Amino acid sequence: MDFREASEIAKKNPGAVMTRDSTGSFIVRLDDGRVIGTENDGRTAHDESFREELTGLRDQLIEKNLIIEKLETEIKALRDNIEAAISTRLDSEKSELANIRKELSLQRSVFDKKTNDVQARLQKLDLLEKTYRERFGEVEIKTVKESVESRSVCQRCGGDGGVRGGCQKCDGSGWVLSTETTFREVGEIK
Ligand SMILES: [Zn+2]
Repeated sequence: MDFREASEIAKKNPGAVMTRDSTGSFIVRLDDGRVIGTENDGRTAHDESFREELTGLRDQLIEKNLIIEKLETEIKALRDNIEAAISTRLDSEKSELANIRKELSLQRSVFDKKTNDVQARLQKLDLLEKTYRERFGEVEIKTVKESVESRSVCQRCGGDGGVRGGCQKCDGSGWVLSTETTFREVGEIK
């Protein structure tokens, strides 16, 4: 403002000082610290620092919001990764389980078929036994003890009976006789 305006304000405010700012324009500094005539007309130094603080806080808030957004994006990506991994694992487990079930079912059906075969053969055997019994009477299973004689070449004389038939082990025969006992089962009609 010009000199006239500045002096009128200064007159109305006891203790005020008239001066020029850096642009050469007149300003009035009041005794409470306020400066009139600058761009910040009417604002106190306190207002100014408060505004700066507010701007700083707003900047910090924006920065924090950006960090939070970034973290939220990262958390979402991590969650997506975990979900994908779990889903893949689950699918693999499910498919393995299905294979085991299939294998078990196959083994079960093979076992059932074998059981049926055995039962069919047992039924045939029963029929055979019944027919036989009716035709020839009861059959009893007995264990028979048998002695089997076997002869082998004499190890001492090599089978030639020794000098002038003098081998003591085989008495000059060239053969060694042995007897083995065996057991076998036979069916006997009563
Ligand atoms: Zn001999």
